[in-house]
Amino acid sequence: MRDGVRDCIIIGGGASGLFAASYLTYLDPDIKLTIVEKMPRVGKKLLLTGSGRCNITNASTGKDDYNTDNVARLDTVLKSFAVNETVEFFENYLGLVLTSKDELYYPLTFRSNTVLDCLRFYIEERGVETILEDPVTKIAHSNNGYSVLLDSGKLLEAGNIIFACGGKSFAKTGSDGSAIDLLKTFVKDEDIIPYKPALVPLTSDKPGIKSLAGVRFNGSIDIVSDGTDYKRAEGEILFTKDGGLSGIAVLDVSDAARELIDKGRSVSASLNLTGKGSGDILRMLFIRRQLFPSRTVSNCFSGLLNRVLLDAVLKDIKIDGKLIASSISDQGLIKLSNTIAGWLIPITGTKGFEDAQVSAGGVKLSSLTDKLEYSNSRGLYVIGEAVNVNGICGGFNLQWAWSSAVAAARGIRNV
Ligand SMILES: Cc1cc2nc3c(=O)[nH]c(=O)nc-3n(C[C@H](O)[C@H](O)[C@H](O)COP(=O)(O)OP(=O)(O)OC[C@H]3O[C@@H](n4cnc5c(N)ncnc54)[C@H](O)[C@@H]3O)c2cc1C
Repeated sequence: MRDGVRDCIIIGGGASGLFAASYLTYLDPDIKLTIVEKMPRVGKKLLLTGSGRCNITNASTGKDDYNTDNVARLDTVLKSFAVNETVEFFENYLGLVLTSKDELYYPLTFRSNTVLDCLRFYIEERGVETILEDPVTKIAHSNNGYSVLLDSGKLLEAGNIIFACGGKSFAKTGSDGSAIDLLKTFVKDEDIIPYKPALVPLTSDKPGIKSLAGVRFNGSIDIVSDGTDYKRAEGEILFTKDGGLSGIAVLDVSDAARELIDKGRSVSASLNLTGKGSGDILRMLFIRRQLFPSRTVSNCFSGLLNRVLLDAVLKDIKIDGKLIASSISDQGLIKLSNTIAGWLIPITGTKGFEDAQVSAGGVKLSSLTDKLEYSNSRGLYVIGEAVNVNGICGGFNLQWAWSSAVAAARGIRNV
């Protein structure tokens, strides 16, 4: 442990805080640096990422994969430490071996603790002090820059602060959203957007939807309001046991649904249950009616859709699945194909922070510089999920954690 004034205190030992520490010691091996983490160990959320496999980044990362209040600045920060540099730093400096699956990068071990170990070992070897289980309770100005008060009563001082306390999702990992209040001495209220759950399952009150619990399919979802399509995503969709929708495609459109609902708009999810167009589906229905005219409707089309899903759709459009397929009119088949290509599910809201992978909101990116220093407070940097930047699923949120950490580290070392 070092005494005296640190060059920098990083508040929060999550993905962005650990990466900032690594990059700072890479830039300046002699830097006096302390990480303060409120939990008994660092990187608890990082361990959960990618279902324990840690989807580190995405080769296609770009500004359009995120929601933020300042797209131009987001673009600058992402480009200043892009995916290739991230991969290079992980491999050549932290010693991690990466592998890619389509555009998604993972550690070769497919274990998130490998990533955490590489970060931990690197900063430990470079003498970074890590204080655990001692949350920061106050940040104030001091003669030397900033003073940071810990729950234990310990007072630390530093020329720079990196605020890396994350958002509000999965509070059991330590990021419960409360730390943002620490910034209120320096950061104006109008520069902080209240946290909202993002990448989160949607809820619905559609009668009978709970009977679909556990059913999953590969298709697409469109968020629709007053006949306009607001956001679309393709991929896995899952019906949850409490009558909602989840899966990667649903999480990716959840922000758009929440924003519309917050504005008082009525919102539906239009589900394409096969990913094919209604014309293709209609052709398949015609062919199957011709092939199996004496089967029941349910049996006749069961090769096209999960049986439980097919029966729910038939019930919804009031076609009796027990009827003989040949008795279904062309009009009936058209109605069925249109519904399979765009089944409307009313959306009532989103689930809460405990089910959200990330949070929207935080310190406005427009109130920070390109180095993520708060414009009105020299030496105070905000990175990671604490900034109002949230990405879709696929490694984009961690890429933001890495890129924002490097921006702040370079700001502190003026490079
Ligand atoms: C289940 C799940 C799966 C995910 N999978 C992926 C994925 O595969 N790929 C991807 O890109 N993203 C994924 N994410 C998102 C990603 O984990 C986050 O975006 C990322 O961890 C944010 O990093 P951060 O450093 O900003 O915050 P965090 O990792 O949340 O770290 C913040 C740290 O600050 C600490 N802290 C809070 N308050 C204080 C205080 N007062 N004093 C001291 N310390 C404090 C917390 O304890 C915590 O350790 C996933 C998220 C979840 C929940």
